[in-house]
Amino acid sequence: MLTLCPVVTFSQFLSLMGHKTKYIFVTGGVTSSLGKGIISASLAKLLQARGFSVTIQKLDPYINIDPGTLNPYEHGECFVTEDGAETDLDLGHYERFLNIDTSQSNNVTTGRIYQNVIDKERRGDYLGKTVQVVPHITDEIKRCIQILGNTHDYDFVITEIGGTVGDIESLPYIETVRQLKWEMGTDCIVVHLTLVPYLAAAGELKTKPTQHSVKQLLELGVQPDILVCRTEHELTIDLRNKIAKFCNVAPDAVIESIDAETIYDVPNLMQIEELDKVVLDKLGVDSSGEAQLTKWNQFVQRHKNPKTSIKIGLVGKYIELKDSYKSIAESFIHAGAHNEVSVELVWIHSEEITEKNAAAALKDVKGILVAPGFGERGIEGKIQAVRYARENNVPFLGICLGMQCAVIEYARNVLGLSDAHTAEIDPNTKHPVIDLMLDQQDVSDKGGTMRLGAYNCEIKPNTLAFEIYGQPIISERHRHRYEFNNKYKAEFESKGMIASRINPENNLVEIVEIPAHPWFIGVQFHPEYKSTVANPHPLFIHFVKAAVEISQKLEKA
Ligand code: GLN
Repeated sequence: MLTLCPVVTFSQFLSLMGHKTKYIFVTGGVTSSLGKGIISASLAKLLQARGFSVTIQKLDPYINIDPGTLNPYEHGECFVTEDGAETDLDLGHYERFLNIDTSQSNNVTTGRIYQNVIDKERRGDYLGKTVQVVPHITDEIKRCIQILGNTHDYDFVITEIGGTVGDIESLPYIETVRQLKWEMGTDCIVVHLTLVPYLAAAGELKTKPTQHSVKQLLELGVQPDILVCRTEHELTIDLRNKIAKFCNVAPDAVIESIDAETIYDVPNLMQIEELDKVVLDKLGVDSSGEAQLTKWNQFVQRHKNPKTSIKIGLVGKYIELKDSYKSIAESFIHAGAHNEVSVELVWIHSEEITEKNAAAALKDVKGILVAPGFGERGIEGKIQAVRYARENNVPFLGICLGMQCAVIEYARNVLGLSDAHTAEIDPNTKHPVIDLMLDQQDVSDKGGTMRLGAYNCEIKPNTLAFEIYGQPIISERHRHRYEFNNKYKAEFESKGMIASRINPENNLVEIVEIPAHPWFIGVQFHPEYKSTVANPHPLFIHFVKAAVEISQKLEKA
């Protein structure tokens, strides 16, 4: 019989029981925006392509419970998972690279950690103890990290720690990493991402920022095992040796991460640098053989060698920060590669479109996507963009608010309801063709209270949606409070805009389309959250295809 010695930690107990999840932490130094998410996703891809099961987690050191309440200008897009978690956009990269679903457990913020600890304190779980950052906050962080390994049979959990080492906010996370390294021994490693800047005046790459950043980690008790050095120029052997020597890492554990033409090159670049091999060696896992990236590389080849190109207009109000529409932009890359088309996104500010200039602003694009969003700013411009697409037979895809704008435009200009609007912007409109969902009417909190996550629904046969999906029951992810107002459905359908997909449980209209238009579709959900390299989303595939075919037809005519 196995008797538990009281000094055996939980993770040691699990490993005694034969559970072998290994943990890889990815920290960042020197500056933000080095691409920790892409490096983490690329490493995960390489491990997955060697046949291992792997997931990635992001720990965000801000106090918001989740990024759902953050303005996209602050933090880029909010990515939504199957289980309805509003998460950091890095989870989108993880899903797109790995073709796996992530969940709420894959994104944890300081706000959530504190909320959990405070809830426990209120319940009396701490039995009269003083509740402190160490051990209570760090224990909760530990629990949130290990929950992935404990509840699933992953071979590897990669945990990316947001922010930069040295930030006040990151301290409890780095302390947790220190403790876990101590507890887990060789089942856990730290990959530290740093910058090796090129000083043009000196004509040299400089290692000092990397040295300082590693020193900062060391001050907190963490010796990184591997350094991934972001650089604009190749690292020479001498430079690698110098970094190795000053930072106490093996020379082969100094990995060059040179600027890439596309993020989709990074797994290959990391394979050339043998990041996966070094990681496996450090974790005591057999590293013989190679990651098989055949399918991935077929995609990269198609992405880099398009046969034709097409301009698609993306109409949104956050276009100054392209990260606000990250998943949409990536979905076009997947769909473009599938069609062997290079999709050139033309970013169009919805606030700048008016009835007068819409034709001039949109004349060069062969397809128009009206983006999701919230609030009044730019909505009239979005409605004008829809009108232009509808009246000029330009392929149109409206996503969430974009679909709602399509409904408003149709109501105003075809049904003749000139004051039609969404109740979100004009709660007193006589014609709320988009209205607050019934189950949202008593909701006052903004965070985590929308209709969120995956829902099934049914597509009507003989519709464009059916042709696109090729099956009647589909599941898509949602993030909205307002919906198509069914009181107007018969009137819309009699005048040419039909509801082609309806949720059978609550009768919510999920897709509208105009059969008389060559390709016009508005979706209440977010197809962009489900497009991956291995599985480009059918709506984007067909949209790009339609844009190419229809524009070619018009050119010939
Ligand atoms: N603001 C709209 C709603 O809440 C649309 C949301 C969105 O585009 N994600 O219904």
